[in-house]
Amino acid sequence: MGGDGPFPKPSRRFETVGFSEIVVVRNRVLALLASGQTVWRFEGGEPYMATPQPIKDAMGDALARGQTRYAPSSGIPELRDAIVRKVRDRNGIPADDDSPIVVNGGMHGLFAAFATLLDPGDEVLLFSPYWTPIVDVIDYHGAVPVLVPTAEARAEGIGAALARRATGKTKVLYWNSPTNPTGDVFSRREVEEVCAFVRKRGLALISDEAYEDLIYEGEAHVSPASLPGMAERTISVFTLSKTYSMTGWRAGYVIVPPAYRPAMRTVVLYSINGVSTPTQWAAHAALGLGDEFLRHAKEGYRRRRDALVTGLRDAGFAVEAPRAALYLFPRVPAYLGGGDSRGAAKTLLDEAGVATVPGLIFGPEGEGHLRFSFSVAEEMIAGGVAALRSFAGARAPRLRRAD
Ligand code: PMP
Repeated sequence: MGGDGPFPKPSRRFETVGFSEIVVVRNRVLALLASGQTVWRFEGGEPYMATPQPIKDAMGDALARGQTRYAPSSGIPELRDAIVRKVRDRNGIPADDDSPIVVNGGMHGLFAAFATLLDPGDEVLLFSPYWTPIVDVIDYHGAVPVLVPTAEARAEGIGAALARRATGKTKVLYWNSPTNPTGDVFSRREVEEVCAFVRKRGLALISDEAYEDLIYEGEAHVSPASLPGMAERTISVFTLSKTYSMTGWRAGYVIVPPAYRPAMRTVVLYSINGVSTPTQWAAHAALGLGDEFLRHAKEGYRRRRDALVTGLRDAGFAVEAPRAALYLFPRVPAYLGGGDSRGAAKTLLDEAGVATVPGLIFGPEGEGHLRFSFSVAEEMIAGGVAALRSFAGARAPRLRRAD
């Protein structure tokens, strides 16, 4: 209409908040596949197994029983009871009946945790490389991410590295172990050092434990909230996505100390008003599965990890097998240009048909690396490695001649 005013712009916050670059990579992969090209896909972050049948059955049963109505917005009592038992027994977190809130997966739990704690201008410490969306979620709340390079902190001493970056505005430390994208697991001693710092400085901790169950060897997972004096200042964020191959179900839970419960329940109420009731019954069945499923899944992860490590080494990558999670995070080899991870990922996709994620998007400390998921079909690993080897064979001599 001629006399109509202009329509309003979206909120100004979106002028600075980024949108996951992994999605950009995925879209390019999908376009290549649609054009009929072969793509060896290592850019994802999903369990390779299907969701176990008893979990699917539990949703079917819930539907058959007519469990299709509003549930309490913080979760059905049966699931919340199972969560309390799980975190007490397996994580050593001193949870009470009111600690858990059921959320729409880890991403939602993290969003709600940051929304609960942050005011504009607050500073959040996080180790880098980090899982990409975290910085955007911090930005969304008008707060400031303060990166602590992990390798540097380990060399210098974690407490000292944190102390050097903390200011009067620091309010929260975001913690993720096992870590995406490196597959690193912080040791108990390191967790203790981080927690001692958090307590001393009077901070809150947001603990992202998405990969707690995907540790393949060595020291077991340590939940920060299990350490003395930490439960009252830690929001622990868990997801069923990785442990139970449930990425598409959008189910997770947070363990919240009393001081933050009213705010956190409010965020969950007004963002989702509760996770879908049939999904919660499926989550309840998942927590009731024995450890046979996980034992079997982990065997498969370990086999895939080792096959991809061997294959990448054959193709000229220097790579260590990580202890946990779903990813290898090797340096870009010299024959791919070394430093520029975006350029290297593009070259690999265009010329070898191998899809990876450039390390730069996991923070400046990720630059010079590529992320490969080993949680793919074994045929994908075999095919991808063969493509990489023939690409490397053609490239490396050419580069040597150019030297
Ligand atoms: N934290 C980390 C470190 C992750 O890698 C992911 C998933 N990639 C999540 C949280 C959230 O996963 P979801 O939302 O599927 O639970």
